[in-house]
Amino acid sequence: MVEICMHTTFSRLIRYAVSAVTLMAWVMFSQVSVADDAQLSQSSCLKVTLTGTNGGPTPFNGLAGAGTLVEFGQNPDCDDVRLQFDSGRGTTQSLSKLGIRSTALGLLAFTHLHSDHVDGFSDLILNRWHSTGINKQSDFPSLDILCSNPRAAKPPAQHVVDCKSFVANIDQPFKASGELTQRLAENPGRTSGGPSSLTRVIELDEGNEKPATAWSKKTPLGQVTISYIRVNHIPGALAYRVDTPAGSVVIGGDAANDQPIEVRTTSTSDSTALLAKSPDSATIIVHSATSKILAPGSGYPKKFYVRQSTAEDLGTLAKSTGARYLMLTHLIPAIGAKKAGPADLESAMTANDWKAEAAETGFPHDNIIVGPDRVSLKISNTP
Ligand SMILES: [Zn+2]
Ligand SMILES: [Zn+2]
Repeated sequence: MVEICMHTTFSRLIRYAVSAVTLMAWVMFSQVSVADDAQLSQSSCLKVTLTGTNGGPTPFNGLAGAGTLVEFGQNPDCDDVRLQFDSGRGTTQSLSKLGIRSTALGLLAFTHLHSDHVDGFSDLILNRWHSTGINKQSDFPSLDILCSNPRAAKPPAQHVVDCKSFVANIDQPFKASGELTQRLAENPGRTSGGPSSLTRVIELDEGNEKPATAWSKKTPLGQVTISYIRVNHIPGALAYRVDTPAGSVVIGGDAANDQPIEVRTTSTSDSTALLAKSPDSATIIVHSATSKILAPGSGYPKKFYVRQSTAEDLGTLAKSTGARYLMLTHLIPAIGAKKAGPADLESAMTANDWKAEAAETGFPHDNIIVGPDRVSLKISNTP
């Protein structure tokens, strides 16, 4: 059973079949569950939600910044394990629209520390800290934070973007200004070390050549494992993979095509492809996408164009690795935008334009999901 859900303020339901026998896709415009199969209560599920689909630092039309929520658990809620990948602008707001508090997250993994992937982290961790006061104690563990150790990257990074330092200093303005001291004075139940003390950074040293294990958790429904590999984008950038008994998902981040040239000979990042095939074909690939309409000559800077993957690259990746679904996010240009960086566009792209680009490779059009914020894909493992 597969469900595709879009959360908006409207409430309407459109149901349509996607493919054969066991696969049914649902598009719904509310948060009402459409699963009514009695068997589902006995099954596990994997749910992947794009918490933010904005591409790059420039805001557009209120879209939240980069982020993907991966949930695994028993049907129909799918909420035993909640893993957040990247926390761009508005991630806490986006989670709240899904009814999920920051304290409900079991882990946060950064694909890389470009600001558009982490600028919502301060809000998220401050919010988590405030909850310790409400509860009068820290009744939830430190947030595990996965990120690359760029010092271990090969070739060595010219510019080290230090994750431990980033996390340790995330609350500095609030400490330095005395805001945290004031908050503590009025509610001593809050954790005295401040928001940054509610974190546990796990630096990832391996993954230069082949996937390595980053984290795993045993649940009553089976093992949940996160693996990772380094990818081309900026030094230390990672792609992650989550394996669960209900399915698997690769979060490719901003991984670039390995060929930083206008005419490309490979489909996309070989590293991401390896992760998407190890140990078997991933069920879902979530990936940042740039449109080929921004190819050199369009007015969009070539140096930015070549360090991302195009929708066409990603259709090829999904097809060649045997993935069943492709979710495009971090869209450059954004749907409806008439501009991308300095480039003026003749017309704005639609979600269908994005799907068409990715589907040119032969990957099934109906198995491509493109925004908007908070669209989710749920895969159920029915016994
Ligand atoms: Zn980005
Ligand atoms: Zn980036």
